[in-house]
Amino acid sequence: MTAVLAVAEHRRGDLRDVSLELVSAGRELAEALGGDLELAVVGGDVDAFAEQLNRDGVARVHTVDEGEEFNHDVQVQATAAMAEALEPDVVLLPNSVNGLDYAPAVADALDRPLVTDAVGLAANDRLEVTREMYGSKVATTVAVDLPAVVTIRAAEWPQADGVGDAEVAAFDLALDEAAVRSTVTGFEEVAGGDVDISEADVLVSIGRGIGEEENLELIEELAEALDATLSASRPIVDSGWLPKNRQVGQSGKTVTPDVYLAIGISGAVQHVAGMKGADTIIAINTDPNAPIFDIADYGVVGDLFDVVPALIEEFG
Ligand SMILES: Cc1cc2nc3c(=O)[nH]c(=O)nc-3n(C[C@H](O)[C@H](O)[C@H](O)COP(=O)(O)OP(=O)(O)OC[C@H]3O[C@@H](n4cnc5c(N)ncnc54)[C@H](O)[C@@H]3O)c2cc1C
Repeated sequence: MTAVLAVAEHRRGDLRDVSLELVSAGRELAEALGGDLELAVVGGDVDAFAEQLNRDGVARVHTVDEGEEFNHDVQVQATAAMAEALEPDVVLLPNSVNGLDYAPAVADALDRPLVTDAVGLAANDRLEVTREMYGSKVATTVAVDLPAVVTIRAAEWPQADGVGDAEVAAFDLALDEAAVRSTVTGFEEVAGGDVDISEADVLVSIGRGIGEEENLELIEELAEALDATLSASRPIVDSGWLPKNRQVGQSGKTVTPDVYLAIGISGAVQHVAGMKGADTIIAINTDPNAPIFDIADYGVVGDLFDVVPALIEEFG
């Protein structure tokens, strides 16, 4: 019996980390539900991906050899068809940009409830999904009837290791070509200069607490005083105040500097996913309950417009 069907994710030839996190989450859940964990991968070098997905606890890896990159229409058809054939209790998908793109359509096609952004999973008679709200300050548990579709948050489960003995099987998808209405026409590297924040020893990172674009000058001054590199949370990049190559986090870069100075950054999980590997984390934030303080080694509860000038004076 298939308890969990987890669908891996890849991009430009590489299996994404969340795929192996799906294996860990799926393994726990399949054990709790008393059935098998099966994996699926759609498109790209499916044989190589299947080999990487063959971890302890995976019963089977189903491959769908259609296209190179993620395609919404193909992914929906393939995932729904595999779920219809295998009848898993839970279809487990990543809460990534792609996952959020196709999970609702899969849930709709299967007429199953969808719970997104899970950070914990438990199974009794129903599926209990833990989610976080209000910037990770509140945890809620959502109970849904099985079967269900669930997306899991990146970096919440460890990446599964240990080579398994999964059977690899090509899934015979009768693709409805007429229903494939989108195509990936190419990728474009975002222009962003020559700075590689993942190589920096000291990062001064700025978040929405900076308020206005013109205030960035203050942070640039601090970065210069500390001989550090400037990075940012996503809202700063989305606002066009700094280029994409400065973004730290799940949809930005993963950084591992000696020192990470987080200024006016709340510590959302998608940000933390990219910087939790820093040796020393220092946070400056007006909100003593900001989640960034949960992972900071040192913290200043204070207004950055008071603290940063004092730091510039000290180190400048
Ligand atoms: C699929 C997905 C991918 C994502 N990827 C990323 C990613 O790669 N990177 C990323 O960063 N985010 C990412 N996000 C967004 C993420 O969820 C948060 O919205 C974002 O990280 C918040 O940025 P922030 O901390 O700068 O802003 P906020 O959460 O608004 O926090 C601002 C902080 O500044 C503090 N503050 C305000 N004024 C001052 C002051 N004067 N002095 C000091 N502190 C002050 C506030 O107390 C607050 O804690 C992603 C989201 C999704 C859904």
